[in-house]
Amino acid sequence: MAAVARLLRSSSSSAVSFLRRSLSTAAATELKSQSFPPRVDTGGRNVQWVFLGCPGVGKGTYASRLSELLGVPHIATGDLVREELSSSGPLSKQLAEIVNQGKLVSDEIIISLLSKRLQVGEAKGESGFILDGFPRTIRQAEILDEVTEIDLVVNLKLPENVLLEKCLGRRICSQCSKNFNVASINIKGENGNPDISMAPLLPPPQCVSKLITRSDDTEAIVKERLHIYNDKSQPVEDFYRGRGKLLEFDLPGGIPESWPKLLEALNLDENEDKQFATP
Ligand SMILES: [Zn+2]
Repeated sequence: MAAVARLLRSSSSSAVSFLRRSLSTAAATELKSQSFPPRVDTGGRNVQWVFLGCPGVGKGTYASRLSELLGVPHIATGDLVREELSSSGPLSKQLAEIVNQGKLVSDEIIISLLSKRLQVGEAKGESGFILDGFPRTIRQAEILDEVTEIDLVVNLKLPENVLLEKCLGRRICSQCSKNFNVASINIKGENGNPDISMAPLLPPPQCVSKLITRSDDTEAIVKERLHIYNDKSQPVEDFYRGRGKLLEFDLPGGIPESWPKLLEALNLDENEDKQFATP
């Protein structure tokens, strides 16, 4: 991430000068006030990854498991916005106005929060990051490219009919707010693709009578959401594919089936954390 500093010194694009203005004081204050945890030994491995995947694919789950395994933070830009809003950070007032007016948070603000987060992480000795939910557009990918180097983009995929069944099976307990999934997915693979099975995540007896379905988990809305996602993400995927950084990963099922296969695709194994912990 020396690239961030280099970029901040040299570039004059508007996004970057915006960044420089909002970063300098914010990062400095934050650095002084935080204690530095011991450096995680990643055996020299550089983890600067992005996780892509449409809503419902389980991207957050896999990104979070991998971040734990590798000892790098799982950074979701939505969380960064929420954290800034609840802090007294330099952008919190501006953000509150944007959010209260129901407007979208600009790419510049998101990139600014992200850069600040990466700088703080670098100073704390973090050995990389896994980005979740960013970049969403080609413009964000281009700005991110100027801010830091991404070495791998994992694109998690499930067939549309599986995603649809999965989303339609989502239930929330109206009492304890826990998430469940009543869909038991068994889809025959077509055109040489393997079958996909996913076990349901059933609620405990005390929740069964209190389950509710999100009002936007209808077939029409889920399909629309997937199409909007695909239209936007296609150029982002092409951007990274063209740079030889895109790893397409077809999830073979739920977490028990997919997790070992994903580790294999990434040349990692379950004991990775233990190896890293040994000096
Ligand atoms: Zn419950």
